[in-house]
Amino acid sequence: MQDIKINLEEAEIPSHWYNVAADLPTPLPPPLGPDGKPIGPDALAAIFPEALILQEVSTERWIAIPDAVREVYRQWRPAPMFRARRLEEALGTPARIYYKYEGVSPAGSHKPNTAVAQAYYNKQAGISRLTTETGAGQWGSSIALAGAMFGLTVRVYMVRVSYQQKPFRRSLIETWGAEVFSSPSELTHAGRSALAHDPNTPGSLGLAISEAVEEAAGRADTHYALGSVLNHVVLHQTVIGLEAQAQFKKIGVTPDVVIGCCGGGSNFGGTAFPFLMDKAAGKEIRLIAVEPDSCPTLTKGRYCYDNGDSAGLTPLMPMYSLGHDFIPPGIHAGGLRYHGDSPLVSHLHHLGLLEAVAVPQLATFQAGVQFARCEGILPAPESNHAIRVAIDEALRCKEQGEAKTIFFTLSGHGHFDMAAYDRYFAGQLEDYSYPEEEIAAALARLRPVE
Ligand SMILES: *Cc1c(COP(=O)(O)O)cnc(C)c1O
Repeated sequence: MQDIKINLEEAEIPSHWYNVAADLPTPLPPPLGPDGKPIGPDALAAIFPEALILQEVSTERWIAIPDAVREVYRQWRPAPMFRARRLEEALGTPARIYYKYEGVSPAGSHKPNTAVAQAYYNKQAGISRLTTETGAGQWGSSIALAGAMFGLTVRVYMVRVSYQQKPFRRSLIETWGAEVFSSPSELTHAGRSALAHDPNTPGSLGLAISEAVEEAAGRADTHYALGSVLNHVVLHQTVIGLEAQAQFKKIGVTPDVVIGCCGGGSNFGGTAFPFLMDKAAGKEIRLIAVEPDSCPTLTKGRYCYDNGDSAGLTPLMPMYSLGHDFIPPGIHAGGLRYHGDSPLVSHLHHLGLLEAVAVPQLATFQAGVQFARCEGILPAPESNHAIRVAIDEALRCKEQGEAKTIFFTLSGHGHFDMAAYDRYFAGQLEDYSYPEEEIAAALARLRPVE
């Protein structure tokens, strides 16, 4: 009888993160300053500690995880992997479906994997405060948790639409001792100017980032922490894929398809990048990033140089983008409402090593509910995107009589997202169409990456 849960011992928590920058077929294009010239690592020194800046530009394949970080990881890692046998049965598919469950962390998602590391390196560098943005509240909770673990003060700018939709995320952030403000706020220049422009704006991640960066850049005791997109963030998330590989090895299975939902790209990159080593070794393996139809960065965006935030305070990063002033509709998968994407994910997608699929909101909730009714776990709306495509792949296997092995990361639980499920059950959720002309205009202003 095969186990449903494939578990590892605490001693099997990875000792190193995997840095995909060591294995790129062509190097990652550098970030650019406002003058269009490549910026050096020191341009980030006002807001990040040196250790993280070094990771950001490192091309070393394996980077040791500090003992103090592994010690905190032990609180919930290794994360379990499950065989989705009841879902397979319900679908009547010959495919085998496995998922890695990151909802076991205290904050309920994969985000503490990097939050803990970032808090550690900032503490080591003598920093006492962190500012950050949060969309759905997952990242704000995670950095509040990490701040509590390492004794740092944390201030969170929370995108207004989520601040209103998810009051209990706010309470969770406060429980762990951090402050949380609705963004745009009156506390920063970027916030005040956005409010002057449109007092009813739902806010956006790009705008909240501007507020947090502005504050961090203006205070010597304060640094900024980003929950996704950057190379060092994706690096920290490779514990997901590395553990999954060890779990598959234990049962003598290798996946044919690896799936992750993709907002800024950290859980997808963290899941998929270690499997690129298998791909390079000749294994046929598909790596699929799933994004919302309403914010289709990889599938409809353009590979260009764009700012990471809406006010244009960050360097220009080479990424698939919808334009930094794009404000996506207020869908419930708040963690997937980002205008750009990780430069590493973007580069690898541009090289054809990763696939991308966009799915509409209603179909993702339908998949998440089907999953919950079979497997019991209630997924985050973001994770429902990965589940949608895993189910679609399993149904395709059924049609074609193929027994593929499908693997996806269940990036978080949806216990704080019940208002979204309520609205789904009440028939109040909609599919948003993608504002083609608006985005085309924004994209025309951006400089393509050659
Ligand atoms: C934040 C979040 C995401 C999206 O972020 P990525 O950096 O793309 O991984 C996905 N799922 C959950 C549960 C999240 O909290």
